[in-house]
Amino acid sequence: MKNQQTISRKKVMKFLALGSVSSILAPSFFATSCAANKRTGGYQSYEEIFNEVYPFSLTNLPYSYDALEPAIDAKTMEIHHRRHHQGYINNLNNALEGHSNLQEMTLTELVTGLNNLPAEVQRAVRNHGGGHLNHVIFWNTMRAGGGSPSGELEQVISRDFGHLNGFREQFTAAAATVFGSGWAWLATDRKGRLQITQTANQDNPLTNGLTPLFGIDVWEHAYYLNYQNRRGAYISAYIDLIYWDKVSEIYNRTRS
Ligand code: MN
Repeated sequence: MKNQQTISRKKVMKFLALGSVSSILAPSFFATSCAANKRTGGYQSYEEIFNEVYPFSLTNLPYSYDALEPAIDAKTMEIHHRRHHQGYINNLNNALEGHSNLQEMTLTELVTGLNNLPAEVQRAVRNHGGGHLNHVIFWNTMRAGGGSPSGELEQVISRDFGHLNGFREQFTAAAATVFGSGWAWLATDRKGRLQITQTANQDNPLTNGLTPLFGIDVWEHAYYLNYQNRRGAYISAYIDLIYWDKVSEIYNRTRS
């Protein structure tokens, strides 16, 4: 009897403890939310962007959520990063759970070899593996103030597009004409030639034999809060955010 009372008292204490945890959950969530808004990581390396392996995780952005304003507003950045991007990661991890051979593959290997993956994970890797990789590339190739191409990348842009304005015109047209949800990319083939390309949904150029250097997310979740249907204004603002030094680093890495 005494034992039972002890146990039940323990249970009560445990219940109360849980209750007190849940009662402070709301304020602590907001505190975490505010802290996360200020907490930033550095830019990720080529290896970190392209060669991550399971289990995949959401990395802090290299800048605060409001850093890219007014081009991209803080609320859009926060929802995009903490909700949409996290969702792709969760779904990718769930899809690879129990596939130990696939868990050893890098994100690039998974997305490049998409068509050779087991049928039961192919759709999930296409949508959520692509979704994860696309967003990691997106975050890491933007910066307030952007910059301009230099070195070998500047030369190949001139060679393949005439000049930077030629690139800008073609990239803008590609991003504007993605029908529905998708991406427009600057990518390179195996010989270092640049191509502007579009992908639907969360497809990535790797699956088509090209290496992406950067891409613009033209899903409505990427701009609709601030721009509504004015995708062209978003594209124009995005181009001024392109972090060309980081793009050069990725391009040079694909050439070495
Ligand atoms: Mn997105």
